[in-house]
Amino acid sequence: MKNLIEDVTCAGCYCACDDIRLETDGQQIQEVQTTCSQGQAWFERAATTDQLVPQIQGQPVSQTTAIERAVELIQQAQAPLVTGFSQTSTDTQRAAVALADQTGASIDTGATAVTRALQQVGEATCTLGEVRSRADLIIYWGAADLLSNARHRQSLVTTSPEITRKTVVMGEAGSLVSDFADECIQIEPERELEVIWQLRALLKGVDLAGKEPVGIAEAELQSLASQLKQSKYIVFFTGPAFKQGLLAHRKLEALSLLVKEIQSERRCHAITVPNSSETKGAEHVLAWQTGYAATVNFASGFPRYSPGEYQATRLLEQSQVDLCILTGGNPLAGLSDKAIKNLKQVASILAGPVLLPDFQPDVFLPTGITGIHFPGSMYRYDGTPLPLRGFLPTVQNSEADVLKQISQSL
Ligand code: SF4
Repeated sequence: MKNLIEDVTCAGCYCACDDIRLETDGQQIQEVQTTCSQGQAWFERAATTDQLVPQIQGQPVSQTTAIERAVELIQQAQAPLVTGFSQTSTDTQRAAVALADQTGASIDTGATAVTRALQQVGEATCTLGEVRSRADLIIYWGAADLLSNARHRQSLVTTSPEITRKTVVMGEAGSLVSDFADECIQIEPERELEVIWQLRALLKGVDLAGKEPVGIAEAELQSLASQLKQSKYIVFFTGPAFKQGLLAHRKLEALSLLVKEIQSERRCHAITVPNSSETKGAEHVLAWQTGYAATVNFASGFPRYSPGEYQATRLLEQSQVDLCILTGGNPLAGLSDKAIKNLKQVASILAGPVLLPDFQPDVFLPTGITGIHFPGSMYRYDGTPLPLRGFLPTVQNSEADVLKQISQSL
């Protein structure tokens, strides 16, 4: 019998579109409507998860044997790392934090730069609903992927006749998506910090002492400043390209200060956009469980926060990890090539709904998908938590349950 299910939330990316319609026969998804190709791929994954079996070194084993081996690896490890939260639910992230706590591991949510900036200067942000209803100037800074996403653009279409909206895209030459923007502003990526400070100076009426602006053409800097002054509700979307480099947290801090200053006269907010393969929210879960939102180490029996020290990429690049526990549908997202290369040299446990083609974990524990097989929740990239539905049966456990089984067996 065919079932039509409406308003399903897709967890295929950070956009978390919650208006998906699909048809099932009670066992499998027959058709997905109103979604993008990435969303289609995420829903199609549900057709293959039931065929996955637990593995040790690529060989099929029983679930009990795989859990026992995972427990052995954890007991032998001196410096375990828990990471890889892309496309995971809040329950999975909560179970992962508990496992890291129990095993004295380091845990990295991947949100280090954003968290450091937030802790220094705070954050003025808003929901997508507010952007849709009120924003008359939207600036995509290093967020070309987001602007190219048709589902994102649809979600911001306003029906208010009072809003005449302008869209500006800023970033490195070659990364600018002119098709959907009213204006493209080219910026040298290594001078973005200076561009923000020059913009702050211009808005405050501070003379640049006759000096030419750096990192941006003077006419474009002036045009941007005047648009900021003329608009009533401004939103910056800062994407992965903006958050690159060692000083990413300083750029985010500077942008937050700029947003605060603009707010003295008009509404202005900034929304940080994760990479398209990441899921936002693990930083919230880690913060409410430990008090810290990123890169925590439990080796001393209590949470220690050190943003540079316990970053997953850094720990792996410097070979300071002897076991990696990964979760989610895209667990290697955000790791550098060197980190992935070193990850392949250490023991690893993967609990997730997919086996990666070029990564063979020591222990693979298959799971169903939260949002298709299990109910749960996830965070959209504007920080809004959304419920996920479970509407198909599966023979697999959820990721959260697998992590809890390991915890209970330790
Ligand atoms: S944009 Fe993202 S959340 Fe929306 S349908 Fe596509 S993959 Fe799913």
